[in-house]
Amino acid sequence: MADRFFPNEMPDFVAEDEASSASGSGGPNDSLTKLLHLPYKTLSHKLQKSALDLKQMVVRETWGLSPSGKRVNDFTLYTGALGTAFLLFKSYQLTKDANDLKLCSQIVKACDSASADSGRVTFICGRAGVCALGALTAKHAGDERLLGHYLRQFKEIKLPSDLPNELLYGRVGFLWACSFLNKHVDKDTISAARTKPVVDDIIKAGRRMSSKGKCPLMYEWHGKKYWGAAHGLAGIMHVLMDMELKPDELEDVKGTLHYMIKNRYPSGNYPSSEGSESDRLVHWCHGAPGVALTLVKAAEVFGDKEFLQAAVDAGEVVWNRGILKRVGICHGISGNTYVFLSLYRLTSNVEYLYRAKAFACFLLDRAQKLISEGKMHGGDRPYSLFEGIGGMAYLFLDMTEPSDARFPAYEL
Ligand SMILES: [Zn+2]
Repeated sequence: MADRFFPNEMPDFVAEDEASSASGSGGPNDSLTKLLHLPYKTLSHKLQKSALDLKQMVVRETWGLSPSGKRVNDFTLYTGALGTAFLLFKSYQLTKDANDLKLCSQIVKACDSASADSGRVTFICGRAGVCALGALTAKHAGDERLLGHYLRQFKEIKLPSDLPNELLYGRVGFLWACSFLNKHVDKDTISAARTKPVVDDIIKAGRRMSSKGKCPLMYEWHGKKYWGAAHGLAGIMHVLMDMELKPDELEDVKGTLHYMIKNRYPSGNYPSSEGSESDRLVHWCHGAPGVALTLVKAAEVFGDKEFLQAAVDAGEVVWNRGILKRVGICHGISGNTYVFLSLYRLTSNVEYLYRAKAFACFLLDRAQKLISEGKMHGGDRPYSLFEGIGGMAYLFLDMTEPSDARFPAYEL
């Protein structure tokens, strides 16, 4: 596995009518090309069927078959049990299968106990994710008492003063959970009085770390000034754009994104951290994919053509170098597919829907075979949402309604 990605040998575009007419006899022969020529509806049924099978496998491997499940060692959404619950909730939204909601609720309950003493405060790696998904699950189950329990637990989360600012362990990871509750439970669930001081701390920290005349906001995590979605600027700017900001704060967010665009690599990819010269990673966590999602959001928020163009450019990098030798959401093909879904939502351009379809077809056709042959890495936690096939199942479910697709725990 010398290279990080497979060369993309799929056609740049296959139109839907061309696809439908080629699906009869005399069409292309290899299985991937055949999938690419299926009409969208037929393909999305296939993806959904595969997703539901994968979901069963994920549940079996991460939770077990007995109703009480296994003991939860890792409660997080990233690699642990909450990721399985999140996948079940997604499946419930699509199929309305009450068993999915019930099992989701049981798993969140186990995560609630397992995370009670955790000092982690974010949606993806901490207690906020458990309480927020718990609240949403309780709302859908019509269980007011349980909803009250999770919201009280959420409101008891305390942010340590030395918290970093990034998404996986830091302040914006907590804020994202607040936005999630306000969007999905009730719009005033978490008030601005709670989020505003956190936003102020983030802006203050970013201005302190910035050097005059360069980037208006800068942050450090474990001694490095990261740029990507998981630990750096892309993730922090993404979440800030959902907050109520003062005009000067908005200008700083805009200026930070302009700085990143101006200083990207000649290839169009983005450095994983300030000053890094190795143009290697094309992941959601580090590199163009995570930045692309933030640029799509910036184009929506600011209506600025430069952000749209930069998002499109980042999408080209993902198309050419994004068929990674991993399946997951964080640093795998599934996560990279969301870039095209996001560009499709923004532009309504069917070429992006095709590209999302192409990446999903590659996964459907080849991922499990390539993993079993050792040509693709199965992930350190092979059934998890962010590193494993849990993420692939989630993506396949999202392909059913591509305009409603959102990168899990990142796009609201
Ligand atoms: Zn990653």
